[in-house]
Amino acid sequence: MPVSILGVPFDAYSSYLRGAAQAPKHIREALFSESASLNTELGVDLAAPGNFVDAGDLQLAGSPGEDFAQIEPGATALLQKGTPIVFLGGDHSITFPLVKACHQRFPDLSVIHFDAHPDLYPEYEGNRHSHACPFARIMESQLAKGLVQIGIRCMNSIQRAQASHYGVEVHEIKDGIPGVGGKPALRVEGPVYLSFDIDVLDPAFVPGISHWEPGGLTVREAISSLHALRAGIVAADIVEFNPVRDNSGCTAMVCAKLLKEIAGKMLSAI
Ligand code: MN
Ligand code: MN
Repeated sequence: MPVSILGVPFDAYSSYLRGAAQAPKHIREALFSESASLNTELGVDLAAPGNFVDAGDLQLAGSPGEDFAQIEPGATALLQKGTPIVFLGGDHSITFPLVKACHQRFPDLSVIHFDAHPDLYPEYEGNRHSHACPFARIMESQLAKGLVQIGIRCMNSIQRAQASHYGVEVHEIKDGIPGVGGKPALRVEGPVYLSFDIDVLDPAFVPGISHWEPGGLTVREAISSLHALRAGIVAADIVEFNPVRDNSGCTAMVCAKLLKEIAGKMLSAI
């Protein structure tokens, strides 16, 4: 069963900067760059026949509201093919409709979320679908059996209250990273949706993000934590890459690397 990728070029609900809608094409360029191969550290070669399908990008050309409404049906159409999928954002608002689509197919879905930010605001600047809110929408809609957050370093009183209200398991980065440096790996009953906001990484590694939040994970720590997961990942997203700020192209390469390792994890035995 191949892993599919689907671009979701939507950044209208980003609160600070636009640009993330351009991410999918830059991630593809980095992924297929002749400077690197499609081999993954877990021993899966994505270039081998039957391992990888590029499903293109969702065609979004309407108003923000119209485009946002296209995301769930677009994801549902691809999920019906039965392959694991990595969605390429886009800002983090897309995760609510994507999880909604996955929940239809996997009613006992759990969510693992890497991010500097909890994204649990009830609403943000008047928008309930802001990229600062998707996990509040997911939990209030009961789309996840459980939510585990890793790498958090922007907790505040509003979001702490939300995390407590929804029973979110929060691993703040100051307390360590599951599966890294002797901390036990996460063991989450599948099926799992993995949401990876790349601003969980230190901006030294990923300057091409809208919200620089120093003190983040190294790329190595993120990959080690991913590899250590004991969970069956059925779908994932990589969000918040903003190519407008990625002058060196390094952030695109980090996204491509994460994409390979997530796909490798999906395709290898748990
Ligand atoms: Mn986020
Ligand atoms: Mn974030």
